Amino acid sequence: MAKDVGIDLGTANVLIHVKGRGIVVNEPSVVAINNKTGQILAVGTEARDMVGRTPGDITAIKPMKDGVIADFDMVQEMLRFFLQKLNLKTFFSRPRILICCPTNITSVEQKAIREVAEKSGGKQIFLEEEPKVAAIGAGMEIFEPTGNMVIDIGGGTADVAVLSMGDIVTSESVKVAGNSWDNDILQYIKRKYNLLIGERTSEALKINIGTAIKGTRNEKMDIRGRDLVTGLPKTLTIESDEIEEAIHDSLFTMIRAAKHVLEKTPPELSADIIDRGIIMTGGGSMLYGLTELMSEQLKVPVLLTENPLDVVALGTGVLLESSSSKKRWWF
Ligand code: ADP
Ligand code: MG
Repeated sequence: MAKDVGIDLGTANVLIHVKGRGIVVNEPSVVAINNKTGQILAVGTEARDMVGRTPGDITAIKPMKDGVIADFDMVQEMLRFFLQKLNLKTFFSRPRILICCPTNITSVEQKAIREVAEKSGGKQIFLEEEPKVAAIGAGMEIFEPTGNMVIDIGGGTADVAVLSMGDIVTSESVKVAGNSWDNDILQYIKRKYNLLIGERTSEALKINIGTAIKGTRNEKMDIRGRDLVTGLPKTLTIESDEIEEAIHDSLFTMIRAAKHVLEKTPPELSADIIDRGIIMTGGGSMLYGLTELMSEQLKVPVLLTENPLDVVALGTGVLLESSSSKKRWWF
């Protein structure tokens, strides 16, 4: 029998879940190519390790960098690469594939993603909205007539959604999430210290010493970069509160979006949300102190799901499972 396949095509990470086998692919959304020949040199982790370290004619591309598909051909190549590895096409059967992609992709892009999945061996292809699948993966009972609110913070976008009876009631998506925080940190250090650091360093600062609330974390980290005045390498020590300063405005852009969604939510559903709390998913939700900051600002309990990076992939698994029973709800 064909194994059903669920794909979380994220801006930062691609995860693939195969029914009965669990998550079989979990790699960064990065492709390394040779500029001259167009040849693909590496995909995923191997390509990520090349970011910022490639010689002239090799580029490591994040094809979905800013919450939109920036380089569609590369997204296709990346998806094809991962699917080929799984050997989905067998002589007897072909799997159903459920793909979760960024909320704001165009219908042309949707069609092309379907085509890649079909060519890679999918029999039926379903596309689904990410916040919904994230909520399912986080164990929320979104098919009941009650209000459920989820905030998914990925690399490119933060998606806020209120769901009831299996559908999105109100939602908002902002393009400030994990990647833009990294960029905020990079710019902050450039402004304050005249030091240019790489993307991977700024991400490490965010994860290792960052905090969403000032005065709550007291870590330090040594970083290396290029001094913009002398042009020479230099080492500096950065503290937790500086990271909060750097990302403060972006955090509040996201909080404003969440407030908007709450304001637009019908009162009965709001009452449910106050009772149940808001669930945060996605890698960005793991930022130190973020659940506390969100609860304080939104005046509603905010909880972090158990596996923030895996919930969407796990949610695709749950959906594919439930569709093989009688409730084939998406047709
Ligand atoms: P996407 O769905 O867009 O692929 P993910 O849900 O995989 O995104 O989350 C990726 C983002 O999560 C990245 O920006 C990464 O830096 C961030 N991230 C991962 N771990 C942490 C952590 N412990 N603290 C803060 N951010 C984190
Ligand atoms: Mg995601």
